[in-house]
Amino acid sequence: MDNLEQRIQKIEENIQNACNTAGRDRSEITVVAVTKSVSSTRTEDVFNAGIIDLGENRPDGLIQKQQELNDKNIVWHYIGNVQSRSVRDMVGGIGFLHSLSRMSIAKEIQKRASEPVNCFVQVNVSGEDSKSGVPPEELESFIAELSAYDKVRVVGLMTMAPHIDDELLIRSIFRQMRELRDSIVEKEFTHAPCNELSMGMSNDYTIAIEEGATFVRIGTALVGAEGEGNR
Ligand SMILES: *Cc1c(COP(=O)(O)O)cnc(C)c1O
Repeated sequence: MDNLEQRIQKIEENIQNACNTAGRDRSEITVVAVTKSVSSTRTEDVFNAGIIDLGENRPDGLIQKQQELNDKNIVWHYIGNVQSRSVRDMVGGIGFLHSLSRMSIAKEIQKRASEPVNCFVQVNVSGEDSKSGVPPEELESFIAELSAYDKVRVVGLMTMAPHIDDELLIRSIFRQMRELRDSIVEKEFTHAPCNELSMGMSNDYTIAIEEGATFVRIGTALVGAEGEGNR
């Protein structure tokens, strides 16, 4: 039997506890269910269980699910690497792009979008070579430069913490993200209100919430591992 409801209930409990620890309100946090590794059927179950924000990390997976679930009021989040050639196909159909880290992609969004796109700028705080993202020391100039593109609206910053057990290190990465976010907010860029923080996955979302996350992207802990799909 499907234990989706129980998984969601457990996650909700954890989120509430993290909110209590940090003195935050649950309503400040949006849960994005990352459905990249499960079928459209399973994705529909997640939506029916009450989670309307869904995340995909490949253009073909996103587009396929958008087509198969097109009668649902889903807010789609694109969380994967973006290639210039895929911008056109997805730019009109997503609520949020979590992974803007190259100026060429901003340029492509400007060319293809008819409405401003809500973008998170991905930051590589941990400095891992394998991760994409703007280095912290280049973040301010990157965001300043984005003002040239009125179809790009910088709603916040996104990061992926390294896959390690070191809670203190993960926490310090999330804390640096919050400080970076605050430093951008201070600039009062009109194209970059940058109030949001997209951080925290299955292994670390409670830490992320304690450190200020407003969007958490939860995959396996929420949807399970179905053993199919497009990961
Ligand atoms: C896959 C993925 C997630 C979710 O990962 P889980 O560990 O399964 O929760 C979150 N963010 C991004 C960018 C991802 O690619």
